[in-house]
Amino acid sequence: MVILKSPEEIEKMRESNAIVADVLALMRELVEPGITTLELDRRAEEAARSRGSVPAFKGYGGFPFSLCTSVNEEVVHGFPSKRELKEGDIVSLDFGVCYNGYFGDSAVTIPVGSISESARRLMQATKESLDQGISNAVPGNRLGDISNAVQRHVEAGGFSAVRDYVGHGIGKNLHEDPPIPNFGPPGRGILLKAGMVIAIEPMINQGTYEVDVKQDGWTVVTRDGKLSAHFEHTLAITDEGPRVLSVVS
Ligand code: MG
Ligand code: MG
Repeated sequence: MVILKSPEEIEKMRESNAIVADVLALMRELVEPGITTLELDRRAEEAARSRGSVPAFKGYGGFPFSLCTSVNEEVVHGFPSKRELKEGDIVSLDFGVCYNGYFGDSAVTIPVGSISESARRLMQATKESLDQGISNAVPGNRLGDISNAVQRHVEAGGFSAVRDYVGHGIGKNLHEDPPIPNFGPPGRGILLKAGMVIAIEPMINQGTYEVDVKQDGWTVVTRDGKLSAHFEHTLAITDEGPRVLSVVS
């Protein structure tokens, strides 16, 4: 069941998501060769709590950390560790908080130092596909219009959209209906309405879209070991168009 949000609730969600955006902006400053992903996790949790919010992922379904850190061939849900980031890596950071009873959720992929041209192209295509998805999040469109816009954009660049993990509605719960795939035909699925708040999150691979889960039970990796990128925004569908909430206020 899709839960529509009032303008007052959307304002609260803007606040939660602004905290997430602030923390990810801090992460962007901190990412450099030599920093460990565990240090990023510590700093993200500290920044969220200092703003009066609670990290949303810690303990969610048993996830042991505040920040998901997915390096190179890791797609999503990577565990922070003592692994030091090195020049040429790309690291996807996914973060969420709960503030005043409402959740925020966003993700970015960040280059570590200078990266290869092929990694840069993957990141750019993924970011652009998120923008394409967002611009289709308007009343009167169907869910499949978002999914298809993402898929079309990345496949035109020779990349593939992960099937096994999807975006989602968000509100008083981190994950609400509807699930939002990053692939599928246009013109299908539920009708989009003003008041829906959704997280669109393309997970895009250089090679095959097929993925596996590592022994830790969480870390999703590309089956072929090639790179993957991930960008995510939480946005409200309004009569004036899509309103991205996960931005620095
Ligand atoms: Mg997320
Ligand atoms: Mg999400």
